[in-house]
Amino acid sequence: MPVGEWSRPYVVCPVCGHAFRSTHASTYVTVGREADLCPKIPGRPSDGARLIRSAVTMCPVCSFAAGEAFDDLDLTFDERHGIEKRLKEDGLLKVFRKGQPPWLGFHAAEVCGKERSLKARELGDLCLRASWVCRKEKERPFESTFQLRALRHFMRSLQEEDLVGRELSVTTYLVGELNRRLGNHREALNWYVNAGRTTEGDPRAAWLDRLIDRQSKLAREQAA
Ligand SMILES: [Zn+2]
Repeated sequence: MPVGEWSRPYVVCPVCGHAFRSTHASTYVTVGREADLCPKIPGRPSDGARLIRSAVTMCPVCSFAAGEAFDDLDLTFDERHGIEKRLKEDGLLKVFRKGQPPWLGFHAAEVCGKERSLKARELGDLCLRASWVCRKEKERPFESTFQLRALRHFMRSLQEEDLVGRELSVTTYLVGELNRRLGNHREALNWYVNAGRTTEGDPRAAWLDRLIDRQSKLAREQAA
């Protein structure tokens, strides 16, 4: 087993009751982050992708997936029923369940997360991680698909959820950075400005201020 991973004997799917072995990453070594906060992990990109992927567990039988440990989930009867229905009807799962592409667990966790009423911030986070895995695995069209989904969840989060402090700053910044990556450079610039306003005077956000400066410069060049 590669370093940084450990296996738990069995987990039990809270939706279909299937018991299976699952691998979880413990803390892993990173050497900084890319501008969309994707961790840089030493070794081959596919090894990094595997470590990022292990943040979600997916049942191999019904495709139920979540970022939380399955033991900690206490689903109601209605939630279970709703999740089963969504998993059966989901278009991407119908097409890709057999092939198990590297982003599938995050997609399934997003589908299930909607039924479990996860916050938009959390749904966005699942999609952002999916886009990181796609980039490391060179799945370009899916990288953009998940960036766009993350962007939409983060926008909704900023509108509807009372984010404060670091979460507010980082989410606002990510809306800028995802717009930039999707080619919306002017939109990106506006969001970097908004993000800068949320960090004003906070010395703990100095790293984010530096990132905002650097990425704004890049977006201005790209917009020209
Ligand atoms: Zn299951």
